[in-house]
Amino acid sequence: LALLGIEIGGTKLVLALGDEAGQPQSHLRRPMAPSGSWARDLESIITDARGLLARASSQAPVSLVAIGVSAPGPSDPTTGIVSYPPNLPGWQEVPIARVLGDAFGVPVRLENDANAAALAEWRFGAGRGARDLAYLTMSTGVGGGLILDGRLYRGAFGGAGEFGHIPIVAPGGLDCACGRRGCLEAYCGGNAWSQRLRAQTPASSAVLALSESRDRITPEHLVAAAHAGDAFALEELARWVECLGRGLVQLALTLEPERIVLGTIAVAAGEALCFEPLRRQLDASLWPHQKGRIEVVAAHLGDRMPEFAGLAVAVGSDASEAPSPGAGS
Ligand SMILES: [Zn+2]
Repeated sequence: LALLGIEIGGTKLVLALGDEAGQPQSHLRRPMAPSGSWARDLESIITDARGLLARASSQAPVSLVAIGVSAPGPSDPTTGIVSYPPNLPGWQEVPIARVLGDAFGVPVRLENDANAAALAEWRFGAGRGARDLAYLTMSTGVGGGLILDGRLYRGAFGGAGEFGHIPIVAPGGLDCACGRRGCLEAYCGGNAWSQRLRAQTPASSAVLALSESRDRITPEHLVAAAHAGDAFALEELARWVECLGRGLVQLALTLEPERIVLGTIAVAAGEALCFEPLRRQLDASLWPHQKGRIEVVAAHLGDRMPEFAGLAVAVGSDASEAPSPGAGS
């Protein structure tokens, strides 16, 4: 028995074939290269998926039982429709679950990429064993997903877990890409941070030497310079961590998850420069019964996230849908 996971990104596509527990067995990665027609793009995804299944079947019989799709942009798990995903021209309201279901004759589950990533860390990564978990992507934006009481929590209208838009500065905060002001993402999202660093990095900082040119500075250069002891980078990273901490305090006071999992930039910054100061900030701000009990940890899946995301969606969004979290290898 096998599950097929499909992670659709703006620039790349990852198809992964997993065992019935969702552990990846083989995968295929290729550029997304949208044609301008969603129907044609889905046709080529179906062709590649058939190829992956045929290659696996040549070694041992494969019986596909379910498909999980992680898609960018608003994705309705009930209707199976993806709506106007960014960076995919020609994709309007795309009935992806119906099209894939017709092609393969199995149930198809759909989640947006942030919720799919949260499910993947919960099933297979740093979230294993937790019943209440918040996951924050910490990449170009600050996406998020929420597992509450052993299941994915989507909210009344599908927008729960958008921690990037918790207001951390109000009034008068920085403009956010979402159109509001003062959001966590305007201070800690990778795109917003890159803009700030390009404008404010002093000529003497190692950040500039690492990036080679001011207009190419990214948070990766800042983190590398901080690890090398650059004074500006250390101060700027501390500021970033403090802003992130303000958001996490609100998250923790509202939801009291047992674990908060942070991806990408936080993982690169590491224990001493990111996680330890975050824990101290949380402990200084939370109720006494919460101090030291809300774990703040690095995401585990890293570059392999796209292999796991679609498969985690295929396994299901509820702990009662076996295997239970923690059962993975
Ligand atoms: Zn916002």
